[in-house]
Amino acid sequence: MSRVYNFSAGPSMLPESVLRKAADEMLDYQGSGQSVMEMSHRSKTYQAIIDGCEALLREVMQIPDNYKVLFLQGGASSQFAMIPLNLMNGSGKADYVITGQWAKKAFQEGSRYGECKAVASSADKTFSYIPALDPSTFTKDADYFYICMNNTIYGTCYSEAQLPDTGSVPLIADISSCILSAPLDVSKFGMVYAGAQKNMGPAGLTVVIIREDLIGHARDITPTMFNYQIHADNGSMYNTPPTYAIYICKLVLEWIRDEIGGLENMKKRNEEKAKLLYDFLDSSEMFQGTVEKGSRSLMNVPFVTGNEELDAKFVKESSAAGLINLKGHRTVGGMRASIYNAMPIEGVKALVEFMKKFEAENK
Ligand SMILES: *Cc1c(COP(=O)(O)O)cnc(C)c1O
Repeated sequence: MSRVYNFSAGPSMLPESVLRKAADEMLDYQGSGQSVMEMSHRSKTYQAIIDGCEALLREVMQIPDNYKVLFLQGGASSQFAMIPLNLMNGSGKADYVITGQWAKKAFQEGSRYGECKAVASSADKTFSYIPALDPSTFTKDADYFYICMNNTIYGTCYSEAQLPDTGSVPLIADISSCILSAPLDVSKFGMVYAGAQKNMGPAGLTVVIIREDLIGHARDITPTMFNYQIHADNGSMYNTPPTYAIYICKLVLEWIRDEIGGLENMKKRNEEKAKLLYDFLDSSEMFQGTVEKGSRSLMNVPFVTGNEELDAKFVKESSAAGLINLKGHRTVGGMRASIYNAMPIEGVKALVEFMKKFEAENK
């Protein structure tokens, strides 16, 4: 067996120990004689898995007690509609910061339901920075203020200090591509959510963490399956939840707690990995990072050579060397290395070594 280093933006690498554990338990989950995939979601055995996953997430992220954790489907993209349907219930207004395609899609979807204002955008420079925010432009009576914390395609991320102070307006964040990468003070947000396929497990699971007082005010037209209250009241079991994805997410959380030692350590590890790559980009004559230094993501690192033919050659040769999915998003061009939690430091070292060799050979 040989495994590649997979730099995909998502679905992405999972920790090898998680995959091994899942393989060991595939045919017979802990003496039940079944795979988790085959189990009734109403069984005691499965209830222990979903309860364990929620308890672990609360422990690892230190989620305050007045927040609900919901295990949903429909991807992060369904939240673009669920958020306005459930939360745009007062003034019918909301503020959005446009930091890339995902924020823009959320803004466009939100605009179907009410008056959405783009309070800032970094579109002028291909979303290569997190724009400064001027609180005097914020809508005072907005029902919520929306940001995308880590911009997967463009490789930018809000630092703690860049998070807007929205006062009594609930701050909502898409944290799909940075959840569990570092500690996060959940109490600063009304709601955060993430598609699982970047840092939590397989595709098919979307995790919503929402303050309790924001639940229960959905518009009448809200489809039952899109109503947070329905899922909160039913322990994410109104219908069949994505059972296997939740199980893998539980194994990933066990890995973070027991093998990594929690989110402080996860952050250190991620900083160390990102530094290796950014330091090389800053010293290289051939490769340049595309993001302003103060806005750099620890998770997604886009870079270019400035020459499309050379970029294409790099993608082809790196792939042949077992460093796969380094092609950049079509709107940025060049390359992008997604170095999520599960990417080992050896993978980043191998990438930097390969880049050095490529640079020397193609001067
Ligand atoms: C991947 C991603 C999405 C889209 O997720 P789906 O689960 O495919 O809908 C949305 N936002 C961010 C930040 C992402 O990284």
